[in-house]
Amino acid sequence: MKIILLGAPGAGKGTVAKLLMEADGSIQISTGDLLRAAVKEGTELGRQAKGYMDRGDLVPDSLIMDMMEIRLQEKDCRQGFLLDGFPRTIPQAEALKEVMKRLDISLDFVVNLDVPRDIILDRLTTRRTCANGSCQEIYNTKSNPPNADGTCKKCGSPTIQRDDETEGAILNRLEVYNEKTAPLIGFYQGEGLLKTFLSVNSKDTVEAVIKALKE
Ligand code: ADP
Ligand code: ZN
Repeated sequence: MKIILLGAPGAGKGTVAKLLMEADGSIQISTGDLLRAAVKEGTELGRQAKGYMDRGDLVPDSLIMDMMEIRLQEKDCRQGFLLDGFPRTIPQAEALKEVMKRLDISLDFVVNLDVPRDIILDRLTTRRTCANGSCQEIYNTKSNPPNADGTCKKCGSPTIQRDDETEGAILNRLEVYNEKTAPLIGFYQGEGLLKTFLSVNSKDTVEAVIKALKE
């Protein structure tokens, strides 16, 4: 499958992507994960991106497009991919359209995850992430807690609250989403690619997406 996952921070893009990945071996490409890895490795991209990320602001489009144009040409993308957290702005969506035309890739559709705001806020403040860069399992202190001592159930590393998951940064990320990313809903509607899923439970959403793919 070749899908873009659209939705506010906390809408469950990562969880839905991981479940869809298990369904047919398509890979999840999360720009957030790629950027965090670059920050951790201390690459030039990471150095340039870190400040924006810690504030909950968007990383400049040109940096994202350079990174993604390379990523989309890697071999593992041929089978299929789930774009998680990209595109995030109209210029990124327009640039992606050009890149895909050039690489002769076409999308199945764009999945818009529509989640009520109170659920989003609750999810973001209770989220914990495994600190191990090659695991990054996501937990929720209420609905899916890590081990009692706060370590990851999968790999035993500590779980942490991300720098951009403090209350101020969360409110900023939601504002940035409404201003910069929500307009993509109209953009992809215009392209005839948009499918909106009212999404409270990620498993139900994944079933609905797989059903839509078969239609
Ligand atoms: P979330 O979707 O939960 O906000 P992500 O892990 O997708 O978090 O992204 C974390 C941060 O990485 C964002 O707040 C932003 O600073 C940066 N980022 C990720 N993807 C993009 C993108 N496509 N364009 C610009 N910045 C991005
Ligand atoms: Zn882990």
